[in-house]
Amino acid sequence: MAIRTIREIGDPVLNKVSKEVTEITPRIRDLIGDMFETMYEANGVGLAAPQVGILKRIVVVDTTGEDPVLMINPRILETSGEQTGSEGCLSVPGKSGTVTRPNYVKIAAFNENLEPFEIEGEELLARAFIHEVEHLDGHLYVEKVEGELMDVEMVEEE
Ligand code: ZN
Repeated sequence: MAIRTIREIGDPVLNKVSKEVTEITPRIRDLIGDMFETMYEANGVGLAAPQVGILKRIVVVDTTGEDPVLMINPRILETSGEQTGSEGCLSVPGKSGTVTRPNYVKIAAFNENLEPFEIEGEELLARAFIHEVEHLDGHLYVEKVEGELMDVEMVEEE
């Protein structure tokens, strides 16, 4: 596995529509492994394939560091409720903004063997799922920010 370069806002690849995955090739398996590794290395809670320059409908999410979720060709089936909170994106480094999203989402997707499954998320998980799925259609959260994008205070780490 390898760390891939995360594309940043302004890179046109982030505004393109990704293609459905129709078969799991060795390249796709490598991509999935690299996406998890790249997300963890960047301390992110989610990453979509276009963020590493690959226009395929693949996202990885892990909001706790212990619950990795892979979704291939994800499709939002249902949303409900509302939450307003701070959001960031590995492709918009050093920034955050306030975004209102549904508080609950149900998604249909495929796993690493292209077997279908459904998954639900609430609160942060719902926010992360929807944020990542939107990347696959070329959308960034900054389009939805209420007010100004803010600079994230960088905490110095030893
Ligand atoms: Zn993002």
